[in-house]
Amino acid sequence: MVIFAEFSGSNFGVTLKNSEEADKILAKAVNFKRISKDECIKLLKFACPSELFYTANYIREKLFGNKTTFSVNRHINYSNICENRCLFCAFRKEDGSKEAKRLTIESILNDIEKMRDLPNLEIHITGGLDSQFSLKDALNLVKGIKEIKGDAIIKAFTMVEIDFFSRTSGISDFDVIKKLKEAGVSAFPGGGAEIFSEEIRKRISPRKIDGQRWLALSKTAHKLGVPSNATMLYGIGETEEEIADHLDRLRTLQDETKGFMSFIPLLFQKENTPLHTLKELSLIKQLKIYAVSRIFLDNIGHIKNHWVMSGLKSAELSQWCGVDDLEGTVVEERIGHEGGAKTPIGMTKDEIVRLIKSAGRIPVERDGLYRKTKKGDGKTVPEHKGKGE
Ligand code: SF4
Repeated sequence: MVIFAEFSGSNFGVTLKNSEEADKILAKAVNFKRISKDECIKLLKFACPSELFYTANYIREKLFGNKTTFSVNRHINYSNICENRCLFCAFRKEDGSKEAKRLTIESILNDIEKMRDLPNLEIHITGGLDSQFSLKDALNLVKGIKEIKGDAIIKAFTMVEIDFFSRTSGISDFDVIKKLKEAGVSAFPGGGAEIFSEEIRKRISPRKIDGQRWLALSKTAHKLGVPSNATMLYGIGETEEEIADHLDRLRTLQDETKGFMSFIPLLFQKENTPLHTLKELSLIKQLKIYAVSRIFLDNIGHIKNHWVMSGLKSAELSQWCGVDDLEGTVVEERIGHEGGAKTPIGMTKDEIVRLIKSAGRIPVERDGLYRKTKKGDGKTVPEHKGKGE
């Protein structure tokens, strides 16, 4: 490690000092000691990428060996009409415009019918805040899916949608979540967290619920026994301090509830948005986010690469920088692709298996709750659910 420190810092005394400090933080992480928010900022700013990746990979392999998990899943976006107007969102369309698309419950159920025989299916449902899609519709949709495919794991509705259902139905958050759970929702997706920084949110999504509300709703879900994922939108001009703050708020809640299954950094897709002039992040910077997340989030089980937004190169390489889980087959992705994502809108199971193998990892199929599946490609699924579990 010292060799790298000397190399990376040999030009400037200040950098050398900072790099040596980053080395000490990495040595702490290798010994599975928790690092502080301040130390997280220092890693983001000063750590030599190769040492950072080495450390994150060391931790990842201690937890999961050579395995990378994935699931067979189907994304459904029931409506792209939304009362919010987040600047980073190319998915939202104006009601009545030619691109507006509102799926009927019947058409969604017809699609599910075609997947009736697919084993271990995870159904991922999200949409805009559409006044024509009420809590009642959400419950009918979930119940309808369960009637057709009782064994499907339904991961549906972000905290932003739950807040919307609560506001529009006049029912408390607690009761909305309870009803969704009773209808058949097994987990909640991690979207809508964006980045918790009040400053950035004011700029890019002023109408959206704030970070505190997102965390409070996640806490209620976890208390009711419904796990969820957590995301972070990055590449929108955030600082290292803002990234560390986001991770820190998630880690603090996870200490209390242990309800987050995975953390998913989401790379901003800028096309067709007013933020299209923002500079693209280098692949190294993207990989650093995964590595620091693996090191800092010692209580969240899985670090996932959402290949739809990050790209297939990142999906491959990140498996050596802390990532142990890839987004699944998806089938028809719309949110990232409206923003210019260059990836396929879905992949077959064979293609994902090949992607994992091409990185030199062993593919293991899991279900929507990170449990071992009966007919997965690997032998066992990693059981790690975070420190202290
Ligand atoms: S990000 Fe979500 S809440 Fe914001 S405009 Fe898009 S669909 Fe609506």
